[in-house]
Amino acid sequence: MTEKPTLALVAHDAKKDIMVEFAKSHESKLKGFKLYATGTTGARVLDRCPDLNITRLKSGPLGGDQQIGAMIAENRLDCLIFFADPLSPMPHDVDVKALMRLAIVYDMPMALNLSTADILLQATTLIGLEALTSK
Ligand code: PGA
Repeated sequence: MTEKPTLALVAHDAKKDIMVEFAKSHESKLKGFKLYATGTTGARVLDRCPDLNITRLKSGPLGGDQQIGAMIAENRLDCLIFFADPLSPMPHDVDVKALMRLAIVYDMPMALNLSTADILLQATTLIGLEALTSK
């Protein structure tokens, strides 16, 4: 059996409700991925979708964004859904930028808002999940 593609979920506080509803409405599709999330995002999604298997990393401000960045650099992540809040100052702004930067450097599929995340998951139906792992 081929390995599931890996997907990381991150949402800033003002975007967590959106992430939770996104995960609920795409729950069956998300089961096709090996899921990772920053600490609080993962906890919130698991509250709403207890059947999902999510590996929770550290909370973003405590290093979770950097953990995901390391996964990208080590080729252990296939795509990223990151609902970033551009309207609030973040104590870990440098980590947020570093994470986005690595996703760009490694040409990783990265959705930064709900519309793009919807399209990203729809696209996997068209191209097949295995296309994500073969990059
Ligand atoms: P959190 O981290 O899911 O632990 O809140 C997200 C972030 O702020 O990067």
